[in-house]
Amino acid sequence: MDLSKLGEFGLIDIISGRFQAPEGVTGIGDDCAIMPQASGRDTLVSTDMLVEGTHFLMDDISAFRLGWKSAAVNISDIAAMGGKPTATFLSLGLPKGLSAEWMEEFIDGYKAISDRFGCPLLGGDTTSSRDKLCISVTVLGEAPSGHTHRRSDAQVGDLICVTGTLGDSGGGLQVILQGKERGAAEEALIKRHYEPMPRVEEGLALTEAHAMMDISDGIGSDLRHILKASGVGAVVDLRLLPLSAELRDACARHGWDAYEIATGGGEDYELLFTIGPEEEKTLEVPHTVIGRITKEKGLRWEGSSKDYDGYKHF
Ligand code: ADP
Ligand code: MG
Repeated sequence: MDLSKLGEFGLIDIISGRFQAPEGVTGIGDDCAIMPQASGRDTLVSTDMLVEGTHFLMDDISAFRLGWKSAAVNISDIAAMGGKPTATFLSLGLPKGLSAEWMEEFIDGYKAISDRFGCPLLGGDTTSSRDKLCISVTVLGEAPSGHTHRRSDAQVGDLICVTGTLGDSGGGLQVILQGKERGAAEEALIKRHYEPMPRVEEGLALTEAHAMMDISDGIGSDLRHILKASGVGAVVDLRLLPLSAELRDACARHGWDAYEIATGGGEDYELLFTIGPEEEKTLEVPHTVIGRITKEKGLRWEGSSKDYDGYKHF
């Protein structure tokens, strides 16, 4: 059978079906693996790959932004668990024709975000690639034992919340792919797409949250992971989705469906979390309530009759 019929998650099922995580360890299925240490702290590990043509277009993204984004999307997976990033490892498959100046700029971008979160680069691997640039980053993080937020931690009655605004990155991607003229709003959306800001401080402060993850594929897909892992359902009111003025502006100008981009655009790298209604009242982290967790399974959208899904990789 062709792999594309299986889908990304069917493929991961084949892999996870052959490996049982050791007792006490959380393996495949969450934003990070969680490995308890004798010190009473958990070590968090995650890895993410960016491939030219699939995740970025060399003609459009600057070397600095590509370096930034490569580290940022990985650091975001540590934020997603409520952890603190401690180190990264960078592996590069380099095609012919890249210049030393390009490489320096790439590492400057990588370093800028690493420094922002006090997360040094400690190693990696370098090899040549036939024609596409391939970037693989592994990130390590830590959290006090038992303080991580897994996708399986949602409870019936929880409110569903997100940090920041949704769809900006997805809007930026549409500007790039459709070759739209770039006014101030479009440039702001492109910046969100190329220079995502992991919500590390927010993740650390959300100690009362139950389930949590970062939004990489769009809530239409990502929320379903929480629902499946927790054995619950959800109702989300599309009218509550936090949309930036820039996204509304660009959607009005280009005739795009803002809900579609906000639910399925992906790569927001905001936090999606569930929390008890009482705990939510006292939250100091800026956030928006978009729905609630239900006993009835499935994801239901209010505010539109359309079914909004998330991004599918293949
Ligand atoms: P995220 O979007 O947070 O990076 P993914 O959707 O990429 O997470 O992956 C979901 C889960 O599957 C993660 O726990 C990840 O570690 C695991 N996973 C993905 N690809 C592989 C692979 N090739 N081998 C083992 N585990 C994998
Ligand atoms: Mg993630």
